[in-house]
Amino acid sequence: MSIKDKIKRKLPPTSVAMEQNIKHLLEDIQNQFIVLSERIDTLENKILSDNQANCDKLRQDFSQLSAQLNSLEKQRNEEMQTLNGQINNLSDGIKADALKTEQNLVKHQKSIIGVVHRRFDRLEEIDNRYMPRTELSFEVALAEHCNLRCAGCDHFSPIAEPEFADIKEFERDFSRLSELFNGQAQEIHLLGGEPLLNPDIVLFLQVARKNFPQAVIDITTNGLLLKQMSDEFWTACRENKIVIQPTKYPIGLDYDALENIAVEHGVEYRYFNNTNNIIKTLNKYPLDLNGLQDCRRSFRLCHRANKCIYLQHGRLYTCTVAPTIKHLNKRFGLKLMESPENSIDIYSAKSAQEILDFLARPIPFCKYCMPEKVQNGLSWRQSEGDLSEWTL
Ligand code: SF4
Ligand code: SF4
Repeated sequence: MSIKDKIKRKLPPTSVAMEQNIKHLLEDIQNQFIVLSERIDTLENKILSDNQANCDKLRQDFSQLSAQLNSLEKQRNEEMQTLNGQINNLSDGIKADALKTEQNLVKHQKSIIGVVHRRFDRLEEIDNRYMPRTELSFEVALAEHCNLRCAGCDHFSPIAEPEFADIKEFERDFSRLSELFNGQAQEIHLLGGEPLLNPDIVLFLQVARKNFPQAVIDITTNGLLLKQMSDEFWTACRENKIVIQPTKYPIGLDYDALENIAVEHGVEYRYFNNTNNIIKTLNKYPLDLNGLQDCRRSFRLCHRANKCIYLQHGRLYTCTVAPTIKHLNKRFGLKLMESPENSIDIYSAKSAQEILDFLARPIPFCKYCMPEKVQNGLSWRQSEGDLSEWTL
């Protein structure tokens, strides 16, 4: 449904003495927001097909539209106050009906404004993907494989052969990144696959903390192994201020008991993305195996781009998919592009800024992704290792 239809659909029936006034007011609101929405559409299409050179101009347009939305909202609020005054002057007989209709109007106006705000948020999000980050955050796998094997896992862990990160390489890479970024990183996620499978995990925690003393460092885990982790592990978490960050899967695991264990060891415990009360679902990220997608458009629309930054073998990637596609290629004999152009070598990069700039650009691999076809909220299930979990 077009944005115009969405807004028009919201016209409520009115049925009181002030019917005409209120109806006109609402139509007026709708028309103004339709015009605004259409401008957002145009701007979004421009951003999706444009290159960096024109982004500054687009951002100016964006700021203007934002200001216009704010003033429109202010104007509407003033009009509502006038309307309130008019209603207060009505005789008691029709006042109650008028108030009811006014409430209806406020509700629908809020709903229309909500639609436009969501459009703005989306616009801002897609525009920000091209903005180099000001601080480094990244993730790194301590194990490629996983003991849970969720269908459609976007690290391809259910079909990955067992493989652990190498502590020497990890130490080298962390030391180089620390050198480039002056020991500063915002967040570092130690994950996988399932990171707790790595028998040397304690060493990884120590190296990560030594190189990034101030960063928030967490272990993103499915929690299956937490109960049997050693005292040495818990001590290392406490001493190195490592946060345990489980995702809560619908697998009957007693997550409260796990939390108690962490708390007893003096270790911070919090759920991934504050998902404590949320039943985990699956997202399906289908790939176009023919690689016919527009890279810039895919990158702009991709919520992992310039966000799920991934360190692997001395290289940084703007997302987790390009570095882990090797598992899909290997399992199904595919040849989705594994190329150095998809990442930046942290040893050749001359500065932190060069890296941050690289991460804010599409990579050749984006031609395989279809962010507009992502399916969210599917019921969680285990993988059957079928290619259809990653394709349309
Ligand atoms: S727990 Fe599920 S989503 Fe996480 S790495 Fe394992 S298979 Fe993938
Ligand atoms: S390859 Fe591009 S579109 Fe695909 S997940 Fe990575 S950044 Fe997103």
